[in-house]
Amino acid sequence: MTDSPYFTFEHEMLREQLQRFVAREVIPHADAWEQDGATPRSVLRKLGELGYLGMRYPEEYGGSALDTLASVVLAEELGRSGYGGFAITVLVHTDMASPHLANAGNEEQLARYMPGVIAGEIITAVAVTEPDAGSDVARIRTSARREGDDWVINGSKMFITNGVHADLYFVAARTDPDARGSRGLTIFLVEKGAPGFSVGRTLDKMGWRSSDTAELVFNDCRVPRANVLGEIDGGFYAVMQNFQNERIVLGAQAMGEARRAIELTLDYVRQRKAFGGTLWDKQAVQQRLARCAAEVEAGRQLVYYAAWLDARGNDCVKEVSMVKAYCGELVNRVMYDCQQFHGGFGYMREAPIERMVRDARVQSIGGGATEVMLQEIAKRM
Ligand SMILES: Cc1cc2nc3c(=O)[nH]c(=O)nc-3n(C[C@H](O)[C@H](O)[C@H](O)COP(=O)(O)OP(=O)(O)OC[C@H]3O[C@@H](n4cnc5c(N)ncnc54)[C@H](O)[C@@H]3O)c2cc1C
Repeated sequence: MTDSPYFTFEHEMLREQLQRFVAREVIPHADAWEQDGATPRSVLRKLGELGYLGMRYPEEYGGSALDTLASVVLAEELGRSGYGGFAITVLVHTDMASPHLANAGNEEQLARYMPGVIAGEIITAVAVTEPDAGSDVARIRTSARREGDDWVINGSKMFITNGVHADLYFVAARTDPDARGSRGLTIFLVEKGAPGFSVGRTLDKMGWRSSDTAELVFNDCRVPRANVLGEIDGGFYAVMQNFQNERIVLGAQAMGEARRAIELTLDYVRQRKAFGGTLWDKQAVQQRLARCAAEVEAGRQLVYYAAWLDARGNDCVKEVSMVKAYCGELVNRVMYDCQQFHGGFGYMREAPIERMVRDARVQSIGGGATEVMLQEIAKRM
């Protein structure tokens, strides 16, 4: 039994194990990964060996069939490492890309890829965004046309996380050129090395430096018919469905990052001497950090509630959109205050809070910008 209405003893054990993993396997090495621009494969394999990459997937493939709240624990604790780039590398694989396979894969596709995905031997990426289509997914122009037993894909994708180092890509393409808007999109499985598929530019980012991000190019990329994932022309629905889990997880990651920032800042202001005491003696500092702590607690509870609804199979688009809008903005406000109380040191590259400020910025943009999320809420009001 636990005191939480949402988490079981198993979830709490998972949280403790992840905290130990982060302390031992992430914190001592992650500055080097930031320099390298990617999280090493060996770390993903270790996560796989320990069962963290298959928590949501069936036991027959090596998973442990846990629920949305397990993903929340994973995202919170990886976020709490303070290295957003490391966290997103893992979370895109576990909760944003590979769910496409789990939700829509046929028996053959699942048998072929799922064991490797769960073991961390096949790393996945999801390729929806294009240079001219981001928030408005219905504007996707990458096309796929039928040629005999193959499909031929043409176009490009932008800002793709794990884009450089993935082995398997879930690519959204327009299969019905006459269909308007959200109709006529299909998801394809594209393996690294498929003829006509190449990784274009590696993108140089403000934050999330230990996550690799790339542009992808499809130039008469030929994939067999067996690589269609789910229903032909049903891809828009698949993307929208997967966005729910993705946004819950992004909210949880943001709240993990915010908690870490508050912890770091408390340590700092309690030892920093000024005006005859410490910074923590100042009521203005206490109140702003207390407000941050209260808001982050509210954000966490909203994440938990949305995850609980999702785990029960309830429609929760409104609550999930609230999670993404609220947590994506809140993490930035918290980072601002925490950096402020670090003074000049907080502006230095050596200060963890400096990296965390940069990492947080994308949380109100990627995976559903705040304004788009607010529209989703408004539609349901
Ligand atoms: C680091 C990083 C990693 C990413 N990883 C992936 C990935 O792995 N796979 C993938 O497919 N994509 C990925 N993305 C893309 C990301 O999801 C998009 O950037 C995001 O959806 C916004 O799209 P856009 O950049 O085209 O902005 P646009 O759609 O051009 O919007 C720009 C801004 O306009 C405002 N806006 C947009 N629509 C509205 C509206 N309806 N009302 C009011 N304001 C609006 C918002 O403020 C928004 O930020 C990643 C992006 C980044 C930065």
